[in-house]
Amino acid sequence: MHNKNNITLSAPLSGPVFPLADVDDAVFASGTMGPGLAIDPLNDCLHAPCAGEIIHIARTRHALTLRTDNGAELLLHLGLDTVELQGEGFALLIEEGARVHDGQALLRVDLDRVARHCKSLVSLVVLTNGEHYHLQPVARTQVKVGEPLLRIVPRLPDEQHAAASTTDTDEVRGSARVAHHGGLHARPAALLRQTAQGFSCTARLHLDDRSAPLDSLIGIMGLSVGEQQEVQISCRGPDREAALQALLDVLRTPLSDTGHAAPPPAKAIPPRPSEDGVLQGVCAAPGLVCGPLAHLSGITLAPDTGHHIADEQLQALDGALEKVRSDIHAMLLRARQRKDSEEEAIFNAHLALLEDPVLLDAASQAIKAGQAATHAWDRSIEAQCQVLLNLGNPLLAERANDLRDLRQQVLRALLGEAANYKLPPGAIVAAHELTPSDLLQLSQQQVAGLCMAAGGATSHVAILARSKGLPCLVALGAGLLDIVPGQVVVLDADHGRLELSPDEARREGVALAHWQQQLRRQHQDAQARLPANTRDGLHIEVAANVASAADAREAHLHGADGVGLLRTEFLFVERRSAPNEEEQRSAYQAVLDAMGDRPVIIRTIDVGGDKQLDYLPLPVEANPVLGLRGIRLGQARPDLLDQQLRALLQLNPLQRCRILLPMVSEVDELLQVRRRLDELAGELGIRLRPELGVMIEVPSAALLAEQLAEHADFLSIGTNDLSQYTLAMDRDHAGLAARVDALHPALLRLMAQTCAGAAVHRRWVGVCGALASDPLATPVLIGLGVTELSVSTPQIGEIKARVRSLDAAECRRIVPSLLQLGSAAKVREACRQHWPLG
Ligand code: PEP
Ligand code: MG
Repeated sequence: MHNKNNITLSAPLSGPVFPLADVDDAVFASGTMGPGLAIDPLNDCLHAPCAGEIIHIARTRHALTLRTDNGAELLLHLGLDTVELQGEGFALLIEEGARVHDGQALLRVDLDRVARHCKSLVSLVVLTNGEHYHLQPVARTQVKVGEPLLRIVPRLPDEQHAAASTTDTDEVRGSARVAHHGGLHARPAALLRQTAQGFSCTARLHLDDRSAPLDSLIGIMGLSVGEQQEVQISCRGPDREAALQALLDVLRTPLSDTGHAAPPPAKAIPPRPSEDGVLQGVCAAPGLVCGPLAHLSGITLAPDTGHHIADEQLQALDGALEKVRSDIHAMLLRARQRKDSEEEAIFNAHLALLEDPVLLDAASQAIKAGQAATHAWDRSIEAQCQVLLNLGNPLLAERANDLRDLRQQVLRALLGEAANYKLPPGAIVAAHELTPSDLLQLSQQQVAGLCMAAGGATSHVAILARSKGLPCLVALGAGLLDIVPGQVVVLDADHGRLELSPDEARREGVALAHWQQQLRRQHQDAQARLPANTRDGLHIEVAANVASAADAREAHLHGADGVGLLRTEFLFVERRSAPNEEEQRSAYQAVLDAMGDRPVIIRTIDVGGDKQLDYLPLPVEANPVLGLRGIRLGQARPDLLDQQLRALLQLNPLQRCRILLPMVSEVDELLQVRRRLDELAGELGIRLRPELGVMIEVPSAALLAEQLAEHADFLSIGTNDLSQYTLAMDRDHAGLAARVDALHPALLRLMAQTCAGAAVHRRWVGVCGALASDPLATPVLIGLGVTELSVSTPQIGEIKARVRSLDAAECRRIVPSLLQLGSAAKVREACRQHWPLG
């Protein structure tokens, strides 16, 4: 769009020339519309000052905008306040969108009429996208049409940033105080960039006299905006007002702090006198382990031989970037499936960094200058790391580690297998600083713990270590790297200690503690396979949420009483074509087979809205989560639903299969599917009917529970969506995450109504949303009348243990008082008092 050629503009009118500042119009004179000059016309026809495209003509014909071939946009405005003539006196000679040549006649004007009815005939030539160009006047005081008037010179990239504060009619601005803890580090920066991408206007972030485009994560982070600092956003383009609001909201809404189980921050650890043989660090993930130390160093590149064919190197880099992008994308999807919003945010930030124009441009420039793709990428990353490190902001300095992560990943993709590493199981891995992708690889190699010379407790790698349950210490200092590999050490992350020469007794003590922990786990595992009955004998089914047969096998192994929710949409996404009936049948059968003799609840496809399928084009939705999703998609595309129902009807044994319908909001939706199920079963010659249940995840369904229960075999409460639709808070909104709490008394009331409605028809009620996995909520759900909890597999043992510790009658007695409370926080507090967690 903006090329680097200079363009000389010829005079569009004949007459005296003078500066904009002398024009009798405050807006033009102040330069608000952009730089330019004025001509007092002596002729009656406006000519094109150069070749280009007419991109806009005012409805009242008194002004038009020409885009030049180097991308500059020129407003040609005839007379002052001529808008009031409503087009009278102006005759257009071209149309909007026309391609015009230099000197072409564009607009004829009735000079007498304009002179009589308007303030002035003075006409203007204004550059409206001045952040990309300079205007150099070609000195003259009087011009004739076609004589040289001005030169347009594209600005250098740095100048463009500085010039971005130039305003014009197309720009809106607003300020906000940054509410994000630690300022605009990678995740809020990525959120800002992602939000800007949802609009077609261009947007910039301004801090004092510096600014950065919102399409560059590095640019945003490079401004080093701190918490509570006042910044400005400017937007130019068609949807600028909406974009501005959305971006200001992002700045003002703090991201929920990452890591629910985050350890106390580094500062909370009391300083300790240094001890011989102990390195002091900061706890990034708790735990106590003992094992041989193994060093992990980053990839070291051999010196560049030069002599490369630039095209080949560019292609190699593109391929590597593509591979890394798709790897990260796959990790992102897995994180999304697990509903792990912290990992999701990290991978989103990494994807954004991989697209960052600053990084990519620097690397391709270096390749064009003769470097190998590996070295070009390495240097481009290192240069940006230095930028972040030099900002003097510890949080942003930690983000340099994310860049180094991408360095490693792309180098690994460029260098192939040679760059991977292997470590003995049980090792305690030491490194200057690990990256998130290192961590994911390491956690698959059964290492015991991690320690880093550098790093911080708020880094992404720390968040991941916590979520993987890997004890991790950071900021141990350079001494860490001098420890002899193989030396047995004790990593006491809880107390911030790396003990370099633990004696026999200490090693045995740690090993004993480790063994006891394993015993506890084993015991819990054994208990997990037993039924979960409350102290007063009420049986609660503790099932698992799964997305595949592999998940189901794991759930079965860990004592799941069944599958409480198979999200079948995961079978449909990430494919080029829809799975056919047989593929579906065998995928569902595999889940049934994995569960022994336990029941399996299979939910019909819940795509649509924001989960799009490549092979199933659906209309773009203004409000996707309120649109065509869940069972509504089945109504719009009955062929899809029929195919899935046919696959389900052919499962064996059908008695163990229960069908669940998502997003039901009225009884007819259920009746329709029931009828269709009957028809299809008839066609297939099947006499048995699987049980059919509905999800209660929309407030209308909860309010209609009694009517639904009349026709449904069971109800399953989806607390994730029920929270979103009841509280009017996007369940994926990072800034609202802490408030989307299904223990909100309004939700408890809806759940109470659901259970009461189901009881009228003697139907059972389960919960398959995330609330079921929260042990604090177990007594509440039991007290409300829920008898099935579908949880994530690692939680099965814990939830069963919690059930066994409760008295159902007591739960029923206390729960009504919780419905009277005013907030989720109050409910949580009351739960902690009545039913303390062990
Ligand atoms: C829910 O909404 O609670 C639910 C279980 O469904 P999903 O999370 O798949 O939308
Ligand atoms: Mg749902």
